[in-house]
Amino acid sequence: MRSAVPLTDLVDSLPANVPFVGPEAIERRRGFVFKARLGANESGFGASPAAQAALKAALGEVAWYGDPEGFELRAALADHHGVPLDCVVLGPGIDGLLGTLVRLVTEPRTPVVTSAGAYPTFAYHVAGHGGALVRVPYRRDHQDLEALAAAAHSCAARLVYLCNPDNPTGTMHNARDVQSFLDGLPAQTLLILDEAYGEFAPLPTAPLFDAGEPRLVRLRTFSKVHGLAGLRIGYALAPEPIIAAINRIRDHFSVSRPAQTAALASLRDRAFVADIVARTAVGRAEYEALATDLGLRTIRSVTNFVAFDAGSSTRARALLLALEDRRVFVRMPTAAPLDRLIRVTVGTPKERAVFADALRDAWERA
Ligand SMILES: *Cc1c(COP(=O)(O)O)cnc(C)c1O
Repeated sequence: MRSAVPLTDLVDSLPANVPFVGPEAIERRRGFVFKARLGANESGFGASPAAQAALKAALGEVAWYGDPEGFELRAALADHHGVPLDCVVLGPGIDGLLGTLVRLVTEPRTPVVTSAGAYPTFAYHVAGHGGALVRVPYRRDHQDLEALAAAAHSCAARLVYLCNPDNPTGTMHNARDVQSFLDGLPAQTLLILDEAYGEFAPLPTAPLFDAGEPRLVRLRTFSKVHGLAGLRIGYALAPEPIIAAINRIRDHFSVSRPAQTAALASLRDRAFVADIVARTAVGRAEYEALATDLGLRTIRSVTNFVAFDAGSSTRARALLLALEDRRVFVRMPTAAPLDRLIRVTVGTPKERAVFADALRDAWERA
């Protein structure tokens, strides 16, 4: 339905579109509750006991806004990453920060580069600001750094998005390759490095922080390894002028007090994070063994999910629906050549067993 009040030309021109349909919407439509929720890369292992205790204590203060400067957590993050305090800003998850960053440099028709089939929320925000998206195909299940850089030059991109480690493939580029990629980008191009899965990677995936490098923004979140997705908290590491620019337009109260408190407790619980990384690796190996057993290929992943290769888009779609019928929630990328994949989060051992039964049954019938 059209709005009775006039909208901006830009908003008026946008299609009805959401980056993701939530599992809750599928549950409402189908009239059931999922037995295994493995489609959004949430942590099946939950939050650290320290974070949960901090959260309980913070309940007494929910009448208060969070510290708009997020000072205590930012100081801890600056220390954790060895960067100046002025180079850290909090936001309501990476998704919220992506919107703010896109807004910093994107006007109608501003050229922006991403990969075809990459994390869709970035493209969603670019569309919302009228940017002109150039999508570069994946190459051998990796984002194609050479082609991304070439595209950035040919369209004079203001913004390039790189997810590393990558979602939806689970693959990574090492820090050295990302550094050369950055070095090869045009001088006016800002590189957004989405490190939602950074903690899971076995090797460094980002260039060493250099406060003098004006073009790199690194994004991190408490949604994945820390198991705090529902609290909505993430952060950006960037040169001070970029952080100062973000501070001019961000929503200063978007990160709640409980979120800041729980995130700080979780950041300090290093043993918890190490344990989740180890348990996730066990789950990944289990998925790989399952796939081998069924004659399915997987992409070697360094994240908390594994992409199973169904061989074609039609078969992937059928498999996704067959899993859904068995009350298992997974997702699939929508762009070729990645649309032959089913992306499955590493859940708890119990969730993995539910998935394994459902996959065996679905695959054998297909
Ligand atoms: C999960 C995910 C996000 C979302 O992070 P939030 O901090 O929860 O907004 C962003 N980017 C990628 C690549 C993700 O997989």
